[in-house]
Amino acid sequence: DTSELQAIDRKHHLHPFTDSKELNEQGTRVITRADGVYIWDSEGNKLLDGMAGLWCVNVGYGRKELAEVAYEQMLELPYYNSFFQCTTPPAIGLAEILAELAPDHINRVFFTGSGSESNDTVIRMVRRYWDLLGEPQKSVIISRKNAYHGSTMAGASLGGMKFMHEQGGLPIPGIVHIDQPYWYAEGGDQDPEEFGLNVAQQLEATILDMGLDRIGAFIAEPLQGAGGVIIPPDSYWPEIGRICDKYGILLIADEVICGFGRTGKWFGSDYFGIKPDFMPIAKGLSSGYLPIGGVMVSDRVADVLTDKCGEFAHGYTYSGHPAAAAVALKNLQILRDEHIIETVEKDTGPYLQKRWRELENHPLVGEARGVGLVGAIEIVKDKDKREFFPKEGTVGGVCRDACIRNGLVMRAVGDTMIISPPLIITKEQIDELIEKALKSLDETAAAIPG
Ligand code: PLP
Repeated sequence: DTSELQAIDRKHHLHPFTDSKELNEQGTRVITRADGVYIWDSEGNKLLDGMAGLWCVNVGYGRKELAEVAYEQMLELPYYNSFFQCTTPPAIGLAEILAELAPDHINRVFFTGSGSESNDTVIRMVRRYWDLLGEPQKSVIISRKNAYHGSTMAGASLGGMKFMHEQGGLPIPGIVHIDQPYWYAEGGDQDPEEFGLNVAQQLEATILDMGLDRIGAFIAEPLQGAGGVIIPPDSYWPEIGRICDKYGILLIADEVICGFGRTGKWFGSDYFGIKPDFMPIAKGLSSGYLPIGGVMVSDRVADVLTDKCGEFAHGYTYSGHPAAAAVALKNLQILRDEHIIETVEKDTGPYLQKRWRELENHPLVGEARGVGLVGAIEIVKDKDKREFFPKEGTVGGVCRDACIRNGLVMRAVGDTMIISPPLIITKEQIDELIEKALKSLDETAAAIPG
């Protein structure tokens, strides 16, 4: 039973990103099954999964086709590697379809097992690229404060989350962070477009300050996901693109969350008009059914990495894992053949955004923002002054717990509540999500002292 499972879990399982005090007080929620957009826990509670797991179950739960291809592939060839001139048919098929779906100038992929591995890989690729061009000192990568790019030493260093850096002496050398285009919290009196431009120009200022001869690349998510679904003003990406072009530095668009339909386009880069040299991918690549990631590489970079030299001394046992690749390939076929991403773009995305914006009528909600099927609301003390509650994080936690009681998984990033549901969510289910969010906001308002 649940308490027995929780006791064993407490004794033997070290959880990622979990407050051990909360864990000891409340125990773990044991999730036992799922279907479509819903998950069930061991107590029989049904929850609408407003986060698609960790932003990844794009085609929804319970897709038998994905289980079947995994089963068939495991019987045929459960494992072989892609080192030493080897590969497998699923890895070949997946690389081909990814090249078809990616922007035209991107035609090759390096496979990994996760988004963190993808971002570690991208650092090595950037450094290798400049090394091969005879400029090994161009090893610095500029990233953004409050970004999340993974949990390995390099991923957490690329990320700009202070509380992660504080654990373990990060970032590693060669990574610097500039501001994020978070207008609501940091824009002050500037209008959003002016703010977007100013924040983008920090990239240029940093290049000039540190010296172009040291800077290899800039990395950012098209929209910052785990940092709080921060949607850049329209002025932001064109200015970043201009600066990268002007100084010839490589542009990395981390597509781990945005990739595979979240914005209503295949990639966040398509949505924002970004022309990246690298796209780290994971999550929605397999809809989370099996772990797999990759780095998609532009022709200009891939040509240097492959033509110039022999061996790139980098790779993972599970790079191109055949069962994971077979599942990812089938997942992409489902997304394409069932027109799931077009539906997000034209139908469910606009509907969610319309209904989501209605939350701004709630007294606690300072801003409701989003694109496609991703969104955030800011819970604030004073809407007119854009003033947050003093102890940032507390109110978000209250709202998150209220959501769970009301049968909805919504995530709290401080006092920013975020959603990223499976891409197959229907309009009726969006209505259900909004109703549950509203009820939870009411309960949160009632629970705030004073
Ligand atoms: N990059 C981004 C933008 C992410 O959101 C994440 C995970 O949330 C990662 C990288 C790391 O991916 P993984 O957890 O698969 O290592």
